[in-house]
Amino acid sequence: MSKNYTGKCACGDVRYVAHGQPKVVAQCHCEECRRLSGTGHTVGAMFPSKSVSVTGKLSQFKYMSGEGSEVTKSFCATCGSPIHGTNTRTPDHMTLSLGTMDDASDLGIEVVIFACDKPHWDQLDEHVISFPTQPDWKPED
Ligand SMILES: [Zn+2]
Ligand SMILES: [Zn+2]
Repeated sequence: MSKNYTGKCACGDVRYVAHGQPKVVAQCHCEECRRLSGTGHTVGAMFPSKSVSVTGKLSQFKYMSGEGSEVTKSFCATCGSPIHGTNTRTPDHMTLSLGTMDDASDLGIEVVIFACDKPHWDQLDEHVISFPTQPDWKPED
């Protein structure tokens, strides 16, 4: 029996179901992934497009990659959560944002790409203080 991975955006308007196992789970540090995510990288799970069904209203942004293929990033039209990306270099496939998945506990990052664009702050020093939830801290005047 093949597994389903379900997910949704922050506001819940966009939902998806992906059937089977991803082809690969990759972390990408390229400039577009950093700007579009607002952080140091994206993490995506690539599935055959025919294995994924998405409902809800998406907005799209297209750009040309360095290799000349066209990349389309799709976001929830309401809350802006990044849902999936496609690339004409790998037709018939789409990459779902791992952070939007309900349960990705059995998946792990298999490859890191565009590591040359990885910001130094996208790696935790062992001395960074870590809180399990929001700490009771506010900026002082
Ligand atoms: Zn949303
Ligand atoms: Zn990228």
